[in-house]
Amino acid sequence: MDPADNDERVARALHHAGALPPGASLAPPLVLTTAYVLPGDPQGEYQYARWANPTWSALDAALEALEDAPVVTFPSGMAAIAAIFYGLLKAGDRILLPADGYYTTRILAERFLTPMGVTFERVATAALGETAFDGFRLVMIETPSNPGLDLADIRAVATRAKAAGAIVVVDNTMMTPLGQRPLDLGADVAVCSDTKAVNGHSDVLFGHVASREAAYLDPVRDWRRIAGAIPGPFEAWLVHRGIETLELRFARMCDSALLLAQRLRGHRAVRAVAYPGLPEHPAHELARRQMRGFGSVIGLTLADKTAAERFIGNCRYVRAATSFGGLHTSAERRARWGDQVPEGFVRLSVGCEPVEPLWRDLETALSGL
Ligand code: PLP
Repeated sequence: MDPADNDERVARALHHAGALPPGASLAPPLVLTTAYVLPGDPQGEYQYARWANPTWSALDAALEALEDAPVVTFPSGMAAIAAIFYGLLKAGDRILLPADGYYTTRILAERFLTPMGVTFERVATAALGETAFDGFRLVMIETPSNPGLDLADIRAVATRAKAAGAIVVVDNTMMTPLGQRPLDLGADVAVCSDTKAVNGHSDVLFGHVASREAAYLDPVRDWRRIAGAIPGPFEAWLVHRGIETLELRFARMCDSALLLAQRLRGHRAVRAVAYPGLPEHPAHELARRQMRGFGSVIGLTLADKTAAERFIGNCRYVRAATSFGGLHTSAERRARWGDQVPEGFVRLSVGCEPVEPLWRDLETALSGL
């Protein structure tokens, strides 16, 4: 897809404040308060700080420009996913979750939804195309899946799942609103852990939900207001700052990841490389249609656990850490969390370092195995 599609959205996100009076700060004010002056009958947007905050409003405006849709923000990606479940589901509902997606979403369903009467089933991301959706109240898609990087066709799944009466939710964390446009492809709700590339500086946990349907977003917003899962103003301020460079960071990360994936697949120590940008990826054609860039995460299979740990430990420019989407390249062995991947599978999150020193570092570490 054409990355220029994003140009207008990015410009709007940077200038969401519109015309500013002389003396106004260019950066949004960080408003730390629990309450607002509120005489007489309550009126206005800012009444109590669990309901609204001017720093949230600035971040909302930037995110809404990127999403082309209203958003509600949360103190983490999981808080955002939980708000969708608690806001939209009721006892007796059945939901479908990715079997190979971020594992905490399944734990949330197992530990907290099932006892409340919401049952869930799992399906592999790559099998969504052949899945029947009858009887599901909600279908969740995570594409590319974390960590296996399999793809689902959002438009095709959304069309069929909505026809069967399901709410279609896409976890867009891997690609961000600039890399993939779930709402434009027919999804009802997009959710993103902004902890990853959206903030991108590895200093804030954050998340947001976007939807063009008030019937879906209003209950999510009410859940936040009533249950109190609200973001801190300072975290919102930091994410606002992160967003201002998202386009630059994400483009660099995707370009570097593609180049590194192409080189890594030729290395004798590498058994397999999973990356949607490689022509041999089973859904490469879909990736070209559906994504802008192929993402910043590469799945690398080495001989075994020892080789994978030694590789990570031997790199100078790769942090051993469990996250992705940050400025600093990082890597981890996903089997350590119980993901269904080989013991030697390394999730490599490509950061913003210049690519050639990074490649030399990876190659040296691999050649030392
Ligand atoms: N969704 C995906 C795909 C993730 O990878 C993660 C975290 O790794 C989350 C959601 C949860 O985000 P957070 O850690 O911000 O709660």
